Amino acid sequence: KLVLSNAHRSISFTNLSRCISTLILAEHESGSIKPQTVSTVVAANHLGESSSVSLLLAGSGSSLQEAASQAASCHPSVSEVLVADSDRFEYPLAEPWANLVDFVRQQRDYSHILASSSSFGKNILPRVAALLDVSPVTDVVKILGSNEFIRPIYAGNALCRVRYTGAGPCVLTIRTTSFPVTPITESKKATISQIDLSKFKEDAVSRSRYVGQSTQDTERPDLGSARVVITGGRALKSVENFKMIEKLAEKLGGAVGATRAAVDAGYVPNDLQVGQTGKIVAPELYMAFGVSGAIQHLAGIKDSKVIVAVNKDADAPIFQVADYGLVGDLFEVIPELLEKLPEK
Ligand code: FAD
Repeated sequence: KLVLSNAHRSISFTNLSRCISTLILAEHESGSIKPQTVSTVVAANHLGESSSVSLLLAGSGSSLQEAASQAASCHPSVSEVLVADSDRFEYPLAEPWANLVDFVRQQRDYSHILASSSSFGKNILPRVAALLDVSPVTDVVKILGSNEFIRPIYAGNALCRVRYTGAGPCVLTIRTTSFPVTPITESKKATISQIDLSKFKEDAVSRSRYVGQSTQDTERPDLGSARVVITGGRALKSVENFKMIEKLAEKLGGAVGATRAAVDAGYVPNDLQVGQTGKIVAPELYMAFGVSGAIQHLAGIKDSKVIVAVNKDADAPIFQVADYGLVGDLFEVIPELLEKLPEK
């Protein structure tokens, strides 16, 4: 029996490497698809040369159609944009979305189903994998082939090589900071198809319901894709003092980040948390003020190109990873920086 089942698996691998078709769950907002979706498309291109990429957009109204039109030319490798237009997908709840992915997959057989490792992807893809009875491979940072991946373990302290041996589709969440998007010169528009939802059935009992969403009304760039990130730690001591970090971020055109200690202390909302249980960032410049450099925090910043740390303790672990370190009091250093940096 074992031999038979292994034989079956090797057949499915052979098929996988010949014909790779990828379905990507696309994230969109205000009529635009999010940069992490384009990075996920870049990742899909590493699965194999003959891969075809379809984007699945769900939601409702004109902003969905605008996003679909933009998605059609977001990357030359996207061959099709599938649009599910219904009030049921107005909010990214895992239940209807996972059912939708299953519904789409029953009509077209995809070898891979991908989403970014954002809160969106992390919410939906595990449920998709459970519905399909497969094990998802999460937080993929490198793709070695159609069924072999590298992902971090132990809070990013070790990298693990994973081979997917399931018979069903390979379900992956992608750490998008590891798949940067290079400027696209080729202009190619994918076909846009509206999904016929007349036969789509939702679960009779849904265990989650949309309550609300609170977003910060800010002009600052998105933390996950910002080129500059300015982070404050517990040492900021108050909401009021944390505004210094926000001012500095504004002057440098960057996003604001925070340690979990700063979030737990209530200085900033938790969507600004950087680290193992927060956002993973990979900016050109990461500046950390009053951040000790706990491994859980470093797990989220290690792909940053240049790390600058200011801490009054010369032995703080953050200095072991910093490219530039300044032993000093942030309450002196930040005001001086604010004074000396030119206005934007
Ligand atoms: P502290 O460790 O208290 O460090 C404050 C630093 O500020 C010190 O180094 C101090 O020398 C310095 N300082 C104090 N005053 C000044 C001053 N005036 N000027 C300059 N420097 C000053 N943490 C995260 O950040 N992100 C995560 O995603 C995350 N996930 C976690 C997951 C798990 C399962 C666990 C167990 C922990 C997690 N943590 C995470 C928490 C992490 O272990 C640390 O507790 C946290 O990162 C510490 O935050 P901090 O550096 O702000 O505070």
